[in-house]
Amino acid sequence: MANLGYIQMVRHCNQNCGFCSNPETPFFYDLEQYRTIIDDFAARGYFGVILTGGEPTLSPVLPEAIAYARSRDLHVRLITNGQKMADAVYTKTLMDAGLQHVHLSLHTHRAKVEDFLTGTPGSLRWAEQALDHLGASPVVVNLNTVINRYNCDHLHETVDWMIDRFPFIRHVVWNNLDPSIGRATANTFFTARLGDLEYSLALAMRRLHDSGRTFRVERVPLCYMTDFAHCSTETRKIVKGEERIVHFLDDKGTVRQTAWGHLYADVCTTCSLRLICGGLFDRGDAYDPAELSPVYLDPRPIVQRIVQDEASDPSWRPDPARLAQLVPAAAPRPAHPSAPNGSRLVQPSTDPRRRHDPEARDWQPTAETAKDTSVDEGALAGPRRPG
Ligand code: SF4
Repeated sequence: MANLGYIQMVRHCNQNCGFCSNPETPFFYDLEQYRTIIDDFAARGYFGVILTGGEPTLSPVLPEAIAYARSRDLHVRLITNGQKMADAVYTKTLMDAGLQHVHLSLHTHRAKVEDFLTGTPGSLRWAEQALDHLGASPVVVNLNTVINRYNCDHLHETVDWMIDRFPFIRHVVWNNLDPSIGRATANTFFTARLGDLEYSLALAMRRLHDSGRTFRVERVPLCYMTDFAHCSTETRKIVKGEERIVHFLDDKGTVRQTAWGHLYADVCTTCSLRLICGGLFDRGDAYDPAELSPVYLDPRPIVQRIVQDEASDPSWRPDPARLAQLVPAAAPRPAHPSAPNGSRLVQPSTDPRRRHDPEARDWQPTAETAKDTSVDEGALAGPRRPG
């Protein structure tokens, strides 16, 4: 199975997203601690590692960390806002260390909305500069977008912009906002209802598909993406029986995740896709089981499509019995032997200059950003369906 491990290198950031799921803590991994985690992933036969944060490019050991993971035959990916990679020299340093794949976080092509979401004036320009550098390199580049109330009506327009401006990007990852952690728990106004995102997401998926590109969608129930159910992140993980270990730099510690279902409503019991659907994520005030409606489609073509997609992945072997049942493995997997959930495989270091604010209710738009966004009232007035 194509298991990927996640390591939060640092938890501070050079941007200030109002819905950040992993706001600042004082913790970081030094190179020795990091090597211990990489060795553990390698011993488990993991396919690769995703270096994340906070903003991982703020880790002073990132180039060495990339090189070490490559030396252990792990595929190395980076999730970044791209601000530091606007510097071509720095980007080349990461390339030279062996970086293979970048997930660049960008939530909209509308500059003022992006400034508002990231709490950082100029963030779109930095991301564009980073993409220009990356487009001239052999690194694989994906776009990562958090679906929220302020971009959910023009996801398709951002796709059009991306195809035109950065045609080398062949894959997009949409993560529907997780309102249960980080700053989004306080800033609940960022959360979109499923009905608000459905139309634009459908257009966006269709445009990517028609252009020969691929995509994944997380935290969107299958009844809101039936045409592309095989592109649901949760559905793929359920079908493939994947696991994921995340080394958080907060109170969650090391977490091994093997279950990919969220919550299900009464109507789900009659739905033909129930066994391969991630269900409804608890979306706080926007959580509404009444938004779900059962589907009566044959799940087998969806499962078959996922199996076919993964045929080229040498690290994954289909389990016929599992696929026949279309359910996650019935037998519980053994617990993480060296670090049960909530404990740590390795203790991170502490930077006393950094805040530790588990509540993370500190986000406010900067005065400059607030001023900027007020100019374009229409862009921030809430979700609208395109005319
Ligand atoms: S009705 Fe429930 S099980 Fe069916 S697709 Fe929607 S969320 Fe999934």
